[in-house]
Amino acid sequence: MQKYGLLFVLSAPSGAGKTSIFRELLARQPGLRESISFTTRAMRAGERDGIDYHFVSRDQFDRMVAQGAFAEWAEVHGNCYGTAKSTLLQAAEEGRDVLLDIDVQGAAQLRASGLEGVFIFILPPGMAELRQRLSGRNTDSAEVIERRMTNAVSEIRTAACFDYIVVNDDLERAIATVQAIVIAEKVRRNRVIDHLPAEFGLKSSS
Ligand code: 5GP
Repeated sequence: MQKYGLLFVLSAPSGAGKTSIFRELLARQPGLRESISFTTRAMRAGERDGIDYHFVSRDQFDRMVAQGAFAEWAEVHGNCYGTAKSTLLQAAEEGRDVLLDIDVQGAAQLRASGLEGVFIFILPPGMAELRQRLSGRNTDSAEVIERRMTNAVSEIRTAACFDYIVVNDDLERAIATVQAIVIAEKVRRNRVIDHLPAEFGLKSSS
């Protein structure tokens, strides 16, 4: 069967466990590749340029915006992040499935652009649990936690525009659920039908 690639978008308020689900999904689902974003934020210890992100200056980022190089971009917590059109194009040409870990503003832009994709929103089990998770990280000040809680309220409201909503009340179950979505979306009739051997005579009429 001919290879064809699909775009999967994961979004969530911070503290919902999106990063753990993202990492584990990439490890478990062969053929699924991470889209490496561009960012203006400083590199953290252990991160590598070109692997975790393409780290660029604000000037470079602004130039890329002006050139229309991004499929979507947004400012998140004071830094800019964007998905290059070329990254998505290359994945499509290679017939690869690509997984994006982007904020809700970026997901909304991709959705509005009419790009075909599967949009998955990860929710915490409740606001009290979200606060507990954000406090439990011991990395953020009380002020930062309050800001993230306020942001989470408006981010969660956008969940209604996604194709799937997965509540992360149990990490293992949430990972398995997102993986099931990926597997099922790959075999939707309208996506598969044009890639089957001609001898089946199943081609869509379009
Ligand atoms: P971090 O700085 O912790 O790696 O990421 C902060 C936030 O930026 C996360 O919510 C992540 O999903 C988001 N993000 C990462 N890459 C992109 C991107 O290319 N576009 C958008 N819109 N958000 C991104």
